[in-house]
Amino acid sequence: MDLSQRITTVEGIGEVFEKKLKNLEISKVSDLLYHIPFRYEDLTQKVKIRGLKVGETATFVAQVLSIQNIFTKSGKKIQLAVVSDGESEINLIWFNQLYLIKNLPIGTSISVSGKLSFWNRKRAIFAPIYEKIVPNFENLHTGRLVPVYPETAGVTSKRLRQIIKKLLKQIDPNDLKDFIPEMDLKDLNFPSLFDSIQKIHFPKNKDEAVTSRRRLAFNELLSLHLESENKKKAWQKKKSSHVLKTNQNDLNKFIRNLDFDLTPSQARSIKEISSDLKNKIPMNRLLEGDVGSGKTIIAAIAAFLTHKNNLQSVLMAPTQILAHQHFQTFSKIFEGKNLKISLITSANVEENAKDSDIFIGTHALIYKKVDFKNVGLVVIDEQHRFGVAQRLKLLEKSEKGKYSPHILTMTATPIPRTVALTLYGDLDLSTLDEMPKGRIKVTTWVVPPKKRAAGYKWINDQIEKEKIQAFVVCPLIELSEKDTMKEVKAATVEFANLKKIFKTRRLALLHGRLKSEEKTKILDNFKNGSIDILVSTPVVEVGIDVPNATIMVIEGAERFGLSQLHQLRGRVGRGSKKSFCLLMTESKSPKVKTRLNALTREISGRKLAEIDLNLRGPGEIFGLKQSGFRELKIANWADIDLIKSSKSYAQKIVTSPKKYKTLLSKLIIASN
Ligand code: ADP
Ligand code: MG
Repeated sequence: MDLSQRITTVEGIGEVFEKKLKNLEISKVSDLLYHIPFRYEDLTQKVKIRGLKVGETATFVAQVLSIQNIFTKSGKKIQLAVVSDGESEINLIWFNQLYLIKNLPIGTSISVSGKLSFWNRKRAIFAPIYEKIVPNFENLHTGRLVPVYPETAGVTSKRLRQIIKKLLKQIDPNDLKDFIPEMDLKDLNFPSLFDSIQKIHFPKNKDEAVTSRRRLAFNELLSLHLESENKKKAWQKKKSSHVLKTNQNDLNKFIRNLDFDLTPSQARSIKEISSDLKNKIPMNRLLEGDVGSGKTIIAAIAAFLTHKNNLQSVLMAPTQILAHQHFQTFSKIFEGKNLKISLITSANVEENAKDSDIFIGTHALIYKKVDFKNVGLVVIDEQHRFGVAQRLKLLEKSEKGKYSPHILTMTATPIPRTVALTLYGDLDLSTLDEMPKGRIKVTTWVVPPKKRAAGYKWINDQIEKEKIQAFVVCPLIELSEKDTMKEVKAATVEFANLKKIFKTRRLALLHGRLKSEEKTKILDNFKNGSIDILVSTPVVEVGIDVPNATIMVIEGAERFGLSQLHQLRGRVGRGSKKSFCLLMTESKSPKVKTRLNALTREISGRKLAEIDLNLRGPGEIFGLKQSGFRELKIANWADIDLIKSSKSYAQKIVTSPKKYKTLLSKLIIASN
């Protein structure tokens, strides 16, 4: 059977059903095979009626002795069947299924699964699952591990079971040839592809289900890894870049002149980057480091090395606020170095930007008319905030002739290692895994409604006594064009409210709809201490560096992912003063409590990302749209062992592509 055929070639599937299956992204025969159960109903325990126990699900075989509709006074329609296994009898009770009378005439043999309970003091099972026993009967819906599938309107698991069962009988091992050679399968201790597909749908026992899932998860991860490996290879082949000369003395002198000593992981990252810059193949590196771990200075040093080779650098940041701040930071770092830095935002393009050594800006860098002459380095800050297309466009704009710039992308979204290994396998990874010295842990509290008033009083006292400043971040609202407005509204309301509570304090409101000059003014005022409390939409998430702000209040904390909360918290604790983060929540859900409590204990961004990964799944952490992040269908991001073994297998494959020719061509088909 040709598995790439339209799904209607499967017996029992017409065009009407085909339409419904579309909602489950099933359109080819193979899609149906790869529609994997997400759990199994354990109906394996088989008993005699006499052996049924209250509250325990079990399966037995019986014959219908009688069946009738009962119409109660309150208008309920009950179907009551009495069945017997020759030894004892029991009542089966359904509701509102009038057709059962016809469907289960007296004498019908059925296999029944359900839990024993009582009806009018008689032994009974409510809403039992049943299937008729026909010649060559095989358990499908009862008496086994019963697969439960993702469903949609008009497509029940029951229906899926029936058609998948039939389909599986029609295919043979030749239709689903394994692309992993038999030898390797043995080494990896995996069943064949054909077996795995059969058994993931209809396992005999839990072990079979687990083993088949592992095999299919391996396939999925393998194709992701191969995709990364391919990207990496393409990158290495096509581009030839500026080979930079890096002078160690220059570098050391530059580093010595900084106000601080580099942390060991900063020093290591710089080593890794400067060795990349000397290479013929352009750098393609991801710098990952928690909020406040000091990524900016790494970018600045890379720009410095680039400048020393008379090449330009371009740094793109996701918000104007952040671009501004980088501009200020860079201007300070490069003070007196006779080097031209320009700021490029939608509100600001310098006239003679053309001859700059360093361009810093937002995505205005892409669409504004700025002439790059010879870009040697492109830095993309908070890279997950940009779409793939935007990153590509900036790159294209920076390419001149055959020269492609070196690329450094930076992110504070702490990506669990497993995810980085898989999704960013084409990039080289540098991580900043410790904080600069002297940082104090930010004390974090979860604040329920009844403690809110006390919280405000405490904040007011802190401002009075310690002369510190506070952030109040308003709740996150699902992102879409209209909703930006909603966020602004929520912040405006909160601002009015807080003005009444903090009567003697100076408050300001910051949100994305303000004009850029206004934003800059507010931020400058906050930096120079003439604002006590800055109320804002979640925009402050990235970048603001105000050491005297030591209190972070987050409204509607349950709406944020742990990583986002952690990033917001990273806005405080930047100076030497003790800092605090108050997570305001009205949610009473124990799950939310568990999640938020993790923040009161945990200070490592990566740990938090991993906790979130397990609690909420990756989509919610990274924001599917924003990051281009892919949901895994079968595998699990938390399965470190499988991710590692599939990764090393992928590397084995790409090093001997000839040997694995079939695999490479097949797996691409399988992953489509
Ligand atoms: P992020 O990684 O979040 O972008 P930044 O680059 O903004 O962090 O750095 C946060 C703060 O830490 C800045 O004020 C920066 O000057 C400071 N900083 C960076 N590296 C060090 C270091 N090694 N020692 C002390 N302070 C540092
Ligand atoms: Mg930063």
